[in-house]
Amino acid sequence: MVSDESPSTDARRIGPSFKANHPLASGPVVQPAPTVDGFVEAFLAELNYGQGVLLSQSTVNDQYLALARTVRRYLMADWLETGARRRQAQQKTVAYLSAEYLLGRQLGNNLLATNLQDVAEEAMRRSGIDIAALRSQEVEPGLGNGGLGRLAACFVDSLATMDVPCIGYGIRYEYGIFRQTFVEDRQVELPDSWLSLGSPWEFPHPERQVIVSFGGHTETTTDDAGVERSRWIPDWNVLGMPYHYMVPGFRNGVVNTLRLWSARATHAFDLQIFNSGDYAQAVRSQTFAENISKVLYPEDSTPQGKELRLQQQYFFVACSLHDFIDNTLPADYDLRRLPERLVVQLNDTHPVIAIPELMRILVDRKGFDWDEAWDITKRCFAYTCHTLLPEALEVWSVDLLGRLLPRHLEIIYRINEEFLDEVREAFPGDEMRVRRMSVIAEHPERSVRMAYLATVAGAKVNGVAELHSQLLRDKVLPDFSQLWPEKFTNVTNGVTPRRFVLLANRRLSDLVTDTIGEGWVTDLDRLRELEPHAEDPEFRAAFRQVKADNKERLYKLLRVRDGLDLPREAMLDVMVKRLHEYKRQTLKLLHIVSLYEGVVSGRVAPEDLTPRTVVFGAKAAPGYHMAKEIIFLINAVADTVNADPRVAGRLSVAFPANYNVTLAEKLIPAADLSEQISLAGKEASGTGNMKFALNGALTIGTDDGANVEIRRLVGDDNFFLFGMTEPEVETLRGEGYVPADLYEQDPVLRATIDLLASGHFTGGDRQVVAPVVDNLLHQDAFMALADFPAYLEAQARVDAAYADPDTWSRMAILNVARSGFFSSDRSMRDYLERIWTAR
Ligand SMILES: *Cc1c(COP(=O)(O)O)cnc(C)c1O
Repeated sequence: MVSDESPSTDARRIGPSFKANHPLASGPVVQPAPTVDGFVEAFLAELNYGQGVLLSQSTVNDQYLALARTVRRYLMADWLETGARRRQAQQKTVAYLSAEYLLGRQLGNNLLATNLQDVAEEAMRRSGIDIAALRSQEVEPGLGNGGLGRLAACFVDSLATMDVPCIGYGIRYEYGIFRQTFVEDRQVELPDSWLSLGSPWEFPHPERQVIVSFGGHTETTTDDAGVERSRWIPDWNVLGMPYHYMVPGFRNGVVNTLRLWSARATHAFDLQIFNSGDYAQAVRSQTFAENISKVLYPEDSTPQGKELRLQQQYFFVACSLHDFIDNTLPADYDLRRLPERLVVQLNDTHPVIAIPELMRILVDRKGFDWDEAWDITKRCFAYTCHTLLPEALEVWSVDLLGRLLPRHLEIIYRINEEFLDEVREAFPGDEMRVRRMSVIAEHPERSVRMAYLATVAGAKVNGVAELHSQLLRDKVLPDFSQLWPEKFTNVTNGVTPRRFVLLANRRLSDLVTDTIGEGWVTDLDRLRELEPHAEDPEFRAAFRQVKADNKERLYKLLRVRDGLDLPREAMLDVMVKRLHEYKRQTLKLLHIVSLYEGVVSGRVAPEDLTPRTVVFGAKAAPGYHMAKEIIFLINAVADTVNADPRVAGRLSVAFPANYNVTLAEKLIPAADLSEQISLAGKEASGTGNMKFALNGALTIGTDDGANVEIRRLVGDDNFFLFGMTEPEVETLRGEGYVPADLYEQDPVLRATIDLLASGHFTGGDRQVVAPVVDNLLHQDAFMALADFPAYLEAQARVDAAYADPDTWSRMAILNVARSGFFSSDRSMRDYLERIWTAR
């Protein structure tokens, strides 16, 4: 049997022990001022002494690693100082718990944060190296699926820039989101071995390892005071090894920490088996433990209730709470005051098991009585909900939870019992309500509703855009918002202007800075000062030139990366996001097919088409069959359209594989049109929509998620709205939605679907298109056909506006000028005000 004791006592023994009074003991060695010569010298030293090679013998990877380590040096003093300052100040700290961080490449961001781009570029040139090749060498840490993971990355960036004490906690997956390729137009997933060439940005800290236990059973004992207590006797455990990553603020001397956990076998685990003489089994057990952080689950929005996933969730949450309580707080800290020092923000339900874990720490390990522990716990947690899709609300079967975490299940039961008593008191005689609100669902199998648990325990519950927060109150958690209206709040998502404007769109950034000065990067509302320049023909021309340059850069990349040859002049119409039926990539596809059908049927003269290049980027969850069929169909349509001389120069479709942050940074600044066309009431917020608006693309979008707020801010005249509203969707569904009727009644829709169904795009094969076509005609759960006519009409308005470059540029400039609200700095101010300091 293995005990539940942490190794932190050992860790402290091998921790700080340096007692000498040398002046360098208490402060970092500061890197000399960044001159080009100094940078070259540091770089060569890293190459020789860090990498162990001569410049003349070095590979691009050697050079990339040495450059990264050189940049790292310039952040290190600030990192050490920030850490020391945080330990001294004992301020309240945000523990941001997220199973995903979709970080994107680090080199460019860190050069930006240190203001070393020019110095580094010149230093590389003097060393005979093209820095662009080194930038391309970095494999982005793709430790997330999409919006949710990218949001976490934006938030930690903003908190560092605002000098807010924050530790981002998560999992160091050995394999991040899969690398997507296409084979015969179908998605094929390749493993993302992002660590294989070495990761210069991480720092392992074995002295801060934590033991995490699983399985076993509980026993009831009576303590010295005669109080009955439960004791967990787990039967296996693993070690959590933290890797630290720098999170630099923007040129403010602050570097916060992202702490990601990697699973290892414990020695205790090994020894047991070694002693039984089975060496091979002992080594296999090592692998078993390491499996926990092996791979990111590639499902976005539709989690699979897999045991390993629950292991991952508990693993990182247990490591993180332990790390904060035992290794970050002072040793003698009075835990009754924990809420003064800690706020745990739960990024969706993935880390919700932290709630019973904190209860277990307080009650079982620290000897608190239940009520006091519950009072502390309730004041420490806040929960962010990210969805409205019922299938995305995570539940864990009682059976699985009880097997893996028996003590936690007991705690959840008791939390639920006391909570339901509270409901009975508030609504006497309303047993239906009690059953509806129970954290334990009875059907289809007994399971724990993690969103309910988070809502019961969280001091605050927030949605991620105004519409979403309202629907969260009214539709997802209505009983809870009646019981505790004050718990519910909204914080509209945001994106970091450092990565998504300054780094991704240097040309636009230079134009903005030349026009309104520098402060906008950390005070994005100042983009408003661009508004008057929307009327200035010279500024508009400069703005158009920025777009043209960004397109040029993108098309160059796509030629090399994907062998695509795209026309320079056409409108660039972009739909990039995870492939999901609710996001309606098929609606976009129907638009393309209808444009094409118009020309090939002779209904429309090719000269009357506004030249367009449509670019898709999207990964499908490997087990999501319909999504993969849609990918296949987009590729098939792209092949046919691009090869047809009748639409040459008028319509092209590109689907570069492996959409990720790196590609987003190239695509978004080049886009003219941003497609945000989810069925109203389905997209919680979206953040892609914000990145596009900030980079001067116009949005064609539904009244959904943060689109609502984008439209309100940029103005109706500068946004192409179409489609049903959320209440209209509900009404139509109530009336009984029959997509086949729409097909029968609308000749354009019929011709479009008929052409798709005919096998025209698939070499005559009608069978392969049937899954998507039949689904649209007979199910269409996300009502693409219902919004199709409105979508075509809105696209016609897009064409009309695009026909006049001055009109279009004016609208685009106003989008940039009025989108400052969507900085994640503002989101962080809202969290601070509405959630983290309000209690
Ligand atoms: C911003 C971003 C997303 C989220 O896009 P949505 O359109 O909001 O779904 C997904 N993936 C990547 C790589 C991103 O940068």
